[in-house]
Amino acid sequence: MDDIKIPIAEIFGPTLQGEGPDVGKRTMFIRVCGCSFNCSWCDSKFAWKRTEKTKDYTQQELSEYMIKLCQDNNCNNIILTGGNPCLYNFNEFINNCHNENILIGVETQGDLLPEWLYKVDTLVFSPKAPSSKQKDTYIDIVKYIEEYKYNNNQIIAIKIPVFNDEDIEFARRFSKFVNDYKMLYKNKRFNDLRFYLSVGNSDTDTVESIRDRVLSDYETLLNKINENPSDFQNAYILPQIHTLIWGNKQGV
Ligand code: SF4
Repeated sequence: MDDIKIPIAEIFGPTLQGEGPDVGKRTMFIRVCGCSFNCSWCDSKFAWKRTEKTKDYTQQELSEYMIKLCQDNNCNNIILTGGNPCLYNFNEFINNCHNENILIGVETQGDLLPEWLYKVDTLVFSPKAPSSKQKDTYIDIVKYIEEYKYNNNQIIAIKIPVFNDEDIEFARRFSKFVNDYKMLYKNKRFNDLRFYLSVGNSDTDTVESIRDRVLSDYETLLNKINENPSDFQNAYILPQIHTLIWGNKQGV
């Protein structure tokens, strides 16, 4: 049993997963404290460092707490997000949750790729486009997918928030990789690889509704993709649904 404590910035839910392959699903979220990036437009800056609200759990403590929370709320899905969950070891936590038929998803930028990732049910890579001013993780993510460990129940997705034209070109390269991969391995190998384009949230401080701005940015993004749709044949282009409902509100 692993006694190392994991710092957790917040646990919330059940709420709606607003993006990616689990969009629309009732989900519990665990947001770890600490990140290996510092994206210029990060909507979770409060999780970069410890605060008085940070709580520490061993994997055993965290799984006991989350299993009860899921069972009490008729929820069977937990997403590990951040910060970067890959800074920590969740191996035992995932085993315990799977034993209770609870599914685990992870969202991470792809710079750290711990062994336990192959166990999760939904693995979402969210590489950060140039507007974030962070490292490009294309090589890390492509290498991981190409050396994939054949958990046939796992969904892998690449989801990129875009804010400008440069970000769209960055995303086009990933989208092309997904297209090529699906063609190459058609009917032969794991093929549930998905690609999502998300509308970036350009102002994470506004407390009023941001619905009109998000929908307007969504329309702009759709128009831009339609101007040059090459390589986006398999892309799901979506707004973050939670921003339409709750705006920038934390913990929902
Ligand atoms: Fe924020 Fe995610 Fe970027 Fe970390 S990787 S700084 S949590 S947006």
